[in-house]
Amino acid sequence: MVIVLKPGTSKENVERVENMVRARGLDVHTIIGEDLTIIGCIGDTVRIDPRLFEVDKSVEKVMHVQEPYKLVNRAFHPEDTIVDVSGVKVGGSHLALIAGPCSVESEEQVIGIAKAAKAAGANMLRGGAFKPRTSPYSFQGLGLEGLEMLCRAKEETGLPIVTELMSPEYLDIFDEKVDLIQIGARNMQNFDLLKQLGKTKRPILLKRGLNATYEEWLMSAEYIMASGNPNVILCERGVRTFESFTRNTLDLQAIPVVRKKSHLPIIVDPSHAGGKWWLVDPMAKAAIAAGADGLMIEVHNNPECALCDGGQSLKPEKYEKLLKDVFQIAEILGKTA
Ligand code: PEP
Ligand code: MN
Repeated sequence: MVIVLKPGTSKENVERVENMVRARGLDVHTIIGEDLTIIGCIGDTVRIDPRLFEVDKSVEKVMHVQEPYKLVNRAFHPEDTIVDVSGVKVGGSHLALIAGPCSVESEEQVIGIAKAAKAAGANMLRGGAFKPRTSPYSFQGLGLEGLEMLCRAKEETGLPIVTELMSPEYLDIFDEKVDLIQIGARNMQNFDLLKQLGKTKRPILLKRGLNATYEEWLMSAEYIMASGNPNVILCERGVRTFESFTRNTLDLQAIPVVRKKSHLPIIVDPSHAGGKWWLVDPMAKAAIAAGADGLMIEVHNNPECALCDGGQSLKPEKYEKLLKDVFQIAEILGKTA
């Protein structure tokens, strides 16, 4: 349930209505926007009669929110949320351009790619240190050593770093060192992990699960917000379909749907969607044209020899060429990096 207050409601009256809500055993989440003040009521609102609040002198209207996600819901927060990743803004008119290798392989590799990606226009560096691999015999990532290499690349380039957290065991160290903590598709519904993320205020990049519905995905974001971390960015990375030619099917409709349902920024990862490097360019442009708040793209200086996902990685020159087009499309939509 959402209570919209009359324009110009005083602070005292906002607090008074908040207390009325609390007295019904609910939590409040108040958003004071430029035009509207909205009190989001969180908890079991099914048996609460909205007329209790509708008659109040400060209340404009009361709306029942049908969806099970509340904090994530645009009804609770009509304006776009802008997430600040160590100074790089994401959402609204700000684009996130995240690039880097699937996995950190060596310090030399990640620093070289970071420099090339930055020169092309990227504003964040990705690189997996802990890798969720389908086979236990595949390269599992360099772990904490890989994280240190990413930190060195950050020192060299100033780019904030994005890397995947698979276990709460490393949350403290990620909190200290990582600018944007990625939760991968396979962990989207690892609810114990999601609940732990409230222990940090570091922004979280929540990838869509392999076959997650929009509602399941937004409920996972709700877990993170409800645990106390409001800094969530969503990432569409393709879903499983009957098609086997591509790795996954990029769901471009997710962008307008999520933007309608939620105030959180949404970016797109075309690399893991198509699984083929030549699909990255057209799908990245389509994603920006459809309103995405950014892109996460795998870039590798030597894809033929990459330890992971070489076939879907762009060489730095191709990435640079792509970003030139992306900047033009984004400009039409009033967005800049
Ligand atoms: C990744 O970004 O490296 C990755 C493993 O992605 P996903 O979780 O989307 O498969
Ligand atoms: Mn990858």
